[in-house]
Amino acid sequence: MKVTIDQHSGFCWGVVRTVQIAEDQLVKERTERNVYVLGHIIHNPKEIERLEAKGLKTVSVDDFDSLAHRGAKVIIRAHGEPPSTYRKAWECGIEIVDATCPVVTKLQERVRKFYDQGYQVVVFGKKDHAEVLGVRGVCNDECIVIKNVDEALAQIDLARKTVLFSQTTMDRPTFQAIRDALQVRIKELIVDTMEEIATEFHAKDTICGQVSGREHLLAAYAAANDVIIFVAGRASSNGKVLYDVAKAANPRTYFIEDISELKDEWFEGAETVGISGATSTPQWFMEEVKKVISDK
Ligand code: SF4
Repeated sequence: MKVTIDQHSGFCWGVVRTVQIAEDQLVKERTERNVYVLGHIIHNPKEIERLEAKGLKTVSVDDFDSLAHRGAKVIIRAHGEPPSTYRKAWECGIEIVDATCPVVTKLQERVRKFYDQGYQVVVFGKKDHAEVLGVRGVCNDECIVIKNVDEALAQIDLARKTVLFSQTTMDRPTFQAIRDALQVRIKELIVDTMEEIATEFHAKDTICGQVSGREHLLAAYAAANDVIIFVAGRASSNGKVLYDVAKAANPRTYFIEDISELKDEWFEGAETVGISGATSTPQWFMEEVKKVISDK
């Protein structure tokens, strides 16, 4: 069996940046102070374990009061946070290290700008996803978060001037269906493209190019292999999107979070096995998966 790793999979640059910031802080503080991260640093249990072994501790905003007296340092992860988190940290005397992905920061800025101009803000995303909580926070929780066309038509005031955004890791076909449904019904609709960063991030909308740019490459890779093992954390949004892309191109695609989930029968008669992953799947873990499959 020939086993390869998809060269376009693994950490996106936003996650590389966040993990690097955490590693730097752990080295810098060493014995001086504990380094905390607000929520799991990325949606991957293996990488969380690795960083926790180096001393990173995961906390929630509810822990800020108890951290206050210790002069704690808290990292904001790539998903970003609402303004209320920064306020609370300031009140508690907590030092924030902001590792919000610049793409998410830009999205938050754009949402705030249109909200301030009186637009009805619509976000294609998951209401309780960390990134969306941050976006909701910058517009006073007055945006409408929808997951499909039906929800959009049921909840949006079609008479208002409206701007449509997407959580950065959603799937583009559903976004386009929502856009098309709204475009014929709303007189003043803006589909925000974050144009000033479009070249840099290949954005046609606010879906991150680090996710959508991988879709056609992954589909080709999946079709070229007999079996695909897709490795990601189950909480990863782009993991779900990219897994669906691979599964559509190759029905013998299997999702795992841990090596113990591999099943021998998946590989029966297979000559080529491809390993791919989400933007939060570490390369070192895909290498471990590769080794286990190669030894079969
Ligand atoms: S997928 Fe895009 S928006 Fe999300 S962390 Fe990576 S670079 Fe940033």
